[in-house]
Amino acid sequence: MSLIVCKFGGTSVASPERIRNVAKRLIRRKQEGHQVVAVVSAMGKTTDELVGLAAAVNPNPPTREMDRLLSTGEQVSMSLLAMAIEARGYSAMSFTGRQAGIVTDNTHNKAKIVSVDSKRILDALDAGYIPVVAGFQGIDANGDITTLGRGGSDTTAVAVAWGINADVCEIYSDVDGVYSADPRVCPHARKLDEISYDDMLEMSAAGSGVLQMRAVEFARKFNVVIHSRSAFSDAEGTYVKEGCDMMEEAVITGIAHDTSEVKVTVRGVPDATGVAAKVFSALAGNAVNTDMIIQNISDEGFTDISFTCPAGDLARAKETLSRVVPEIKAREVDIDESIAKVSLVGTGMKSTPGVAARAFTTLGEAGINILAISTSPIRLSVVVDAGQAAEAVRQLHTAFGLDSEDVFEETQLSAEEIAAKMNKGR
Ligand code: ASP
Ligand code: MG
Repeated sequence: MSLIVCKFGGTSVASPERIRNVAKRLIRRKQEGHQVVAVVSAMGKTTDELVGLAAAVNPNPPTREMDRLLSTGEQVSMSLLAMAIEARGYSAMSFTGRQAGIVTDNTHNKAKIVSVDSKRILDALDAGYIPVVAGFQGIDANGDITTLGRGGSDTTAVAVAWGINADVCEIYSDVDGVYSADPRVCPHARKLDEISYDDMLEMSAAGSGVLQMRAVEFARKFNVVIHSRSAFSDAEGTYVKEGCDMMEEAVITGIAHDTSEVKVTVRGVPDATGVAAKVFSALAGNAVNTDMIIQNISDEGFTDISFTCPAGDLARAKETLSRVVPEIKAREVDIDESIAKVSLVGTGMKSTPGVAARAFTTLGEAGINILAISTSPIRLSVVVDAGQAAEAVRQLHTAFGLDSEDVFEETQLSAEEIAAKMNKGR
C-alpha cells in the first residue's frame, strides 16, 4: 500500500460530470489499496473569470482582496468533489489551504510556502476519509488568505505530498506526461518516461506548461517524486525524480517554447557607467521580471539595451521606462510583442561541445532569424519571431535526433467525447 497525492487541474474538474469522474478515479485508487489525498484546482476557467470580475470593478485591485476572491475557486471544487465522493458511499472531507496547514509569507498573489502542518490531513486519513485539499492557497501570519501564483495548485500538491510523506505526487491533467516538445507544435515529439528535476525545472522555466516551475523546485528541494499523467486514461505518464540514468546519453532532453514574453528595446542609451544599473534597478523596483538582457556594442557613445519580460509585466515596464528614459537621456523605447523564446534543455549539454553551433546552423538553414540568445549550463534559448517559433521547434527537434517515429495526432475532443473517454473502464 502506498500513500499518494492526486492533483486534478481545472480541466479535469470543469463540470459536475468531470468532478464525478474524478471522484470515481480517487475511489478506484483507494480500492486498489492506496491511501489517497486529493488536491484540486478551480473548475475550468473560474480563476480567469474571477480575475475578470475584479478588473471590472477595479483596474488595480488590492492584492489582499484579490487573493480572497481567487481562493474561492478552489473552495468550490474541493467541496463539490468531497460531495461527489460521499455520493458514491465513501467518506471525504474538504480542507481549505488554512485547514490543510499551509502557511505562507504575506506576498499576496505569489506567496511562498513557509511551513506545512499536515496533522488534520493525516488524522482524516486515519479516520478513513479521502481528504480533498483546495489548491493554490494558504494563510499568512496575520491569518489572511494568500494565493501561490497562477498554476499554484501543483505546488500545493507537492507541499501536501511532502507534509504527509507521500510515496508519489500524481499530477493529473489533460496531457499525458512531459514531452520532448509540445506535441501540438511538433508532431514527432516523444513522451518521456522520466526526467530529472534539473531538466524539468529548465523545461518549465522555458515555457513547458505541463508542471508549474515552483512545484518542481519544491519537489527537488524535498525529494518528492512527481508523476505527471493523464486525467483521461490509465497510461503511465512521466516521472520527475532525481537521477534518471537514461538521461545520461541524451545531449538534449527537450525543447520548450514560450510565447508569453515581449521584447523591449531602449535605443540611444548613453554609454556611461551605471546606466544599465539605473534601468534594471527601476524595473526591478516596479516588479518587472526581466529575462534575457542584450546590450549591443556601443556606437559613437550610444548603445541599445534590449530585454525580454512577461507580457503581463509590459504595462509596468512601459511606466518605469517613461520615467527612466528621460533621466538617463536615452532616445526612445521600442516594443516587440510578437516574439517567442525557443529553448533547448538538457543536462547532457554540460559535457557536449557544439550544441550552440548546431542549433544556430539549423535555424540559419531554415531561414529563421535569431533576435537574442541566452544560455545556462543546461539550456540554450533563442528569441525568434513568434510566427517562426513552431518551425524552429520542429527543426531543432529533428536536428538533435529527438524525433520519434510515432506521429502525435492533435485530438480536438468535445466535452462529451472527453467525458466518454473518462468513463471508459470505470
Ligand atoms: N486556479 C489557479 C489558476 O488558474 C491555480 C491552478 O489552477 O493551479 O491559476
Ligand atoms: Mg492549472
